[in-house]
Parts: sequence; structure tokens; C-alpha cells
Amino acid sequence: TLKGKTALVTGSTSGIGLGMAIALAKQGVNIMVNGFGEKDEAIAKIKACGVEVDYHGADMSKPAEIEDLIKQTEKRFGSLDILVNNAGIQYTATIEEFPTDKWDAIIAINLSSAFHTTHHALPGMKQRNWGRIINIASVHGLVASTQKAAYVAAKHGIIGLTKVTALENARTGITCNAICPGWVLTPLVQKQVDARAEREGISNEAAKTALVSEKQPSGEFVTPEQLAALAVFLCGPDASEVRGVAWNMDGGWTAQ
Ligand code: NAD
Repeated sequence: TLKGKTALVTGSTSGIGLGMAIALAKQGVNIMVNGFGEKDEAIAKIKACGVEVDYHGADMSKPAEIEDLIKQTEKRFGSLDILVNNAGIQYTATIEEFPTDKWDAIIAINLSSAFHTTHHALPGMKQRNWGRIINIASVHGLVASTQKAAYVAAKHGIIGLTKVTALENARTGITCNAICPGWVLTPLVQKQVDARAEREGISNEAAKTALVSEKQPSGEFVTPEQLAALAVFLCGPDASEVRGVAWNMDGGWTAQ
């Protein structure tokens, strides 16, 4: 059982991260919340599961703040057992038009932050010989789409990092795996729905349908709750020999 363990979920004020935090809290896991969204609302939802919750506002593009986030989590809860690297942003443009600052921000937040959290979390996990590191990659860690150079590069990169982390700790009780969602209707994707609705002069509903059906054969969005159930499984004892995988939940996207 996971009861009494501690999880840090980066970017857990909304979307997939919040879903992960709630599902882990339902298993009795104490949660360190992080992110720039509606933190009070997120904290209240997690607290309602009957666990201890704290918040740290580290900017995941800043290595020194990430180090402090890990230190404070260990100090506040006594250990950091489950690390979910989830914080992420998106920006779409062709490579020729891609702004350098957007490239740098996406690589820092979607990729490098997971190196820094893992770097600082591993010593404590090794001491206790138990840990679960779950990297939220994407189908874009496995296949590409146009206009997402930085995002696709970062997500392919984080799958590589996942494999190295798994291998370096293969003889320990620490596992590392990646989850690769297809389309999930979160604020990150709503922005792309809005852009499409405006560009094509169609309704919000029509834009959602167009976006999903283009890539995802099921025609349905994946939900944060479904992804969180997979994360809970990866944290459990039956998953102790699942190491270094990139597990997609994508309505058939990458089967094509
Ligand atoms: P979201 O926008 O709802 O959540 C992103 C979270 O990250 C928020 O809490 C936000 O405040 C936080 N965040 C952003 N920049 C940050 C920073 N610099 N420092 C700290 N926190 C920061 O998006 P989401 O869709 O839930 O995305 C979560 C993860 O899932 C991302 O890594 C994303 O790439 C991945 N993902 C999403 C989808 C999808 O369809 N929504 C698909 C595949 C993968």
C-alpha cells in the first residue's frame, strides 16, 4: 500500500497533474503541490481526500528553485517517494518562425526540469531503497506533428531520460517510467481548440471534434482520471518490474 508515502507532482494546479495528485491522495499519499494555476482550489480538492498537502511555487525553468522544491518536500514530509514530472507548456509555430525564447522555455520546463528533480530526489530514494519516478511524456515522445518542434524534441528527450533513470537504478527499488497521453482536454489543449475555432471560424465543439479526430482514431479525449489510474498502477507492487517503458494511452494514435 502507498498510504503514508509522499508524492511531488510538478504542475499539479490543473489538468493531468491535478488528476494525478487527487488519485494518489485517494491512495493515502501526502502531496506536495506545485504550479502556477488555481492553487487554493487544487489544495482543497486534494485535502478532501484526507491526506497532508503543502504547496511550493517553484518555477520549473529555474534549477535553483527546483532544488529548493525537492529539499522542502523532504523536510516537510520526511521523504519524497513518488516523483511525477508533469509540468509542461506548449507553443506552436513552424521551425522557421519558432521564437528562440519559446524553444528555450519548452526545453527547460518540459525536459530539463525532470533531470533536475530526478537528480535531487534520487539520493533520498536510494537511502530508502524505494521510489517511483513517472515522467509525463506524450505521444509526441514517440511520433511527431508539425509546428511542435520544441515540444516533440523535449518529449522524445524525456523518454530517453526515463530509460537512463530506469537503467541506472535497475538493481534498486526505484523504478522510472513514462506515460504518453494522446489528446486530453486540459487548459493546455483548450488553447489549441480556441486557436482552431478562430482560424477556421467554427464553434468550440466543432473545433474539439476536428482536433481529436485528426489524430486519435477513437475520436474521444483521454481523461486525467484514466492517466492517473495508470500512474497509481505504476506506483504499486505489481509494477515493480516495469522499468523504463514509455506507455501510451492515446485512443489508438500511435497504432497507425
Ligand atoms: P495544464 O496547462 O493543464 O497544466 C500544466 C501545469 O504545469 C499547470 O499546473 C501549470 O501551472 C504548470 N506549469 C507550467 N509552467 C510551469 C513552470 N514554469 N513551473 C511550474 N509549473 C508550471 O496542461 P496539461 O495538459 O495537464 O499538461 C500536463 C503535462 O501533460 C504536460 O507535460 C503536457 O505536455 C503533458 N501532455 C498533455 C497532453 C494533453 O493533451 N493535454 C497530452 C500529452 C501530454
